[in-house]
Amino acid sequence: MEYKLVDLIDLKKFQKLMEEFYNITKIPHGLLDAEGNILSGIGWHDACTKFHRVNSKSNLRCKESDLAVSNMLCKGKKYELYKCKNGLMEAVVPIKVEGNYMGMLCLGQFLFEKPDIQFFEEQAEEFGYDRGVYMEAVSRIPIFTKEKVDATMAYFFHLADMLSDMGLNQLKQNEAEKLLINANAELEEKVDERTRKLAIANEKLKKDIVRRKLTEYKLKVSQAKYRTLVEIMPDSIIVYNEGYIIYANPAFAKLVGMDKPEKLIGRSMRDFIHPDDRSIARECVKIINDGKTLSLTEQRIMSVGGQCIDIEATGTLFPYEGKTVILAVGRDISERKKAERLQKKIEEEQRMLKETREYDKLKMEFFANLSHEFRTPLNLIYSTVQLLENDLDIKFSINEKLYLYNRIKVLKQNTYRLLRLSNNLLDITKLDSGYFEFKLENRNIVSVVEDITMSVAQYIKSKNIKVLFDTDMEENVIAIDVSSIERIMLNLLSNSVKFTETDGEIMVNLFTTEKHVCISVKDTGIGIPEDKIKIILDRFRQVNKSIRRNHEGSGIGLSLVKRLVDLHSGDIEVKSEYENGSEFIIKLPRTQVNNCESIDDKLNINDIRRNNIEVIDIEFSDIYLLNDIS
Ligand code: ADP
Repeated sequence: MEYKLVDLIDLKKFQKLMEEFYNITKIPHGLLDAEGNILSGIGWHDACTKFHRVNSKSNLRCKESDLAVSNMLCKGKKYELYKCKNGLMEAVVPIKVEGNYMGMLCLGQFLFEKPDIQFFEEQAEEFGYDRGVYMEAVSRIPIFTKEKVDATMAYFFHLADMLSDMGLNQLKQNEAEKLLINANAELEEKVDERTRKLAIANEKLKKDIVRRKLTEYKLKVSQAKYRTLVEIMPDSIIVYNEGYIIYANPAFAKLVGMDKPEKLIGRSMRDFIHPDDRSIARECVKIINDGKTLSLTEQRIMSVGGQCIDIEATGTLFPYEGKTVILAVGRDISERKKAERLQKKIEEEQRMLKETREYDKLKMEFFANLSHEFRTPLNLIYSTVQLLENDLDIKFSINEKLYLYNRIKVLKQNTYRLLRLSNNLLDITKLDSGYFEFKLENRNIVSVVEDITMSVAQYIKSKNIKVLFDTDMEENVIAIDVSSIERIMLNLLSNSVKFTETDGEIMVNLFTTEKHVCISVKDTGIGIPEDKIKIILDRFRQVNKSIRRNHEGSGIGLSLVKRLVDLHSGDIEVKSEYENGSEFIIKLPRTQVNNCESIDDKLNINDIRRNNIEVIDIEFSDIYLLNDIS
């Protein structure tokens, strides 16, 4: 960069220095820059300042002179003596900074000898100066000796040298400053740039940190969630490596009966696999190690207490703490298995039930056929017995009669028993197949029950057993099938007789509840053990023989009674205490059939006998004492 002299020296200080110098020496000076501009000057003479440099023509000569001096100085001379084109002397020294011409320091104007009056007068004439004033100014121009000029110039030379040095220093300082400023600016720019980049990087870093922290937090939350999930999961989770457990959740610990899952770590999986399922387990591990996910497989595991547990399990390879291990998830299916086994058992039982029913059906068909087949020969035997009875009075003597009567009695009673058995079997079969004749009619139940009871009263009394009929009701008409009620009553009464000792009592009672008419047949007989009460209504069920005291029977009677009560939509209740009598209560609904008139004609023993051949005898045929057979 180019510098001017004015940039390199402290003009104010220089001016002061030169003023003091002038005051002492009265030697005028001037300081000009390389372009010829006067930077400082003192002691300049009016000839110059008021005439030569004021008049345009003479000033032109001044400029030419300055230029000529400059050119001379540029050529490297120490100092120059020069006579200007307006006739005055000047001595100049160049000021150079680093070899470059920057300006000059001049001494002048002066003269070596008295002024050439003619020359100056002609000059005043030429440029139109005020001759008197001009000549007077010229007369004041100092006259220096050559020695003085030399001494002054030597001083000026040193001064110029000093200025050069000062300038150089200033220049260097300036340049250094500039360099410094530039460097500083550059540095600051770089610092700014760096700071900017740093700020951006910082901002990015902050965001990264926030993001990382958020990710870490999310990871922690998600880890916690998964941990909680795994911890509270009802399914068992285990992680194992080379057959040894490295993680187990509480559900697995609970499943195998361990109080803490940590206690399972390091245990061999083999300890928990059922010995019979080890080959299945090996196969599963092979599938998982082949990189496949194991589909749900049923297995059995063993608890620490040796209990076998059914599970279904799945598994897969799983990265865990830098290793590839096996993650297995299992579910306790013991309940399901139990249910499956139960279901199988139920199905088996249902199958057996079906088989039994079919067998029952066959049996009933067989009984039905059998009872049919029984009836024809029985009727023939019965008719023959009746013929024999008729013949008794006519054809035999008293002794023969007595003998034959006893034989016929045995024949007759056993014929009745066979008839009763075949009737009951036939009725049960009819009830089972839906062919039983049953017709509900609105009848006065009080008279029906009373009549039936009275019809057998004589018979019961002959066994030395009291029979009582009691009721508060006069009449109660409900829907009944009279012949079924007959069967029910005769059955209950014959049972009471059968199981009641001599001098006992049988009470038949009728009463009502809100919804039912109840028939109670109560005796003071041997009673029924508590555990048998529930079963005696089932078909073929009898209390064991020792308790029945050798009374005969087939175990069909009460089941038939129950079926007949059911047909009436009624209920049967048995109250009994072993050795303390029994009570059978038949509950019939207090309903009537629509569009049916109530039939009020009283039944009597003959009606009953008319409807069925020897019904009572047949129904009571089981009742005889061993000594009856003689
Ligand atoms: P069975 O033809 O053998 O009498 P039931 O079905 O009529 O058949 O009776 C079943 C069993 O109930 C009888 O064998 C008897 O053990 C018992 N039982 C029935 N009624 C009485 C009663 N009034 N007292 C004691 N036991 C009775």
